[in-house]
Amino acid sequence: MLDIARRFDLPVDVVATTIIRSVLGECYDFKCDHPEDKIEIKRTPPHCRWCWTFLEILQKPKTFEDPMGREQKIGSLKVKAKRNKFEEELRRKLRREAVTVEER
Ligand SMILES: [Zn+2]
Repeated sequence: MLDIARRFDLPVDVVATTIIRSVLGECYDFKCDHPEDKIEIKRTPPHCRWCWTFLEILQKPKTFEDPMGREQKIGSLKVKAKRNKFEEELRRKLRREAVTVEER
């Protein structure tokens, strides 16, 4: 796992979560919609606390203070998943494997 981490320049824990997410996604139809309340934007890189996908923030909701001094939001948070090169390669391999198993 360390070799893969070095090859793709990723921390080992990111390699581990990438493997879990990719296998679950390709083999068990796992999909995460990254619910807004599960998105961690205060820490970098921004990520989804449910699936540990790193995210690019496309749009942050606008905030304003209402007459009672409470923070209110207008609009919603828009994000885009950032797949690393390892995840792209792994998912391609998993899909290829799924095709060969079905052909047998
Ligand atoms: Zn997610």
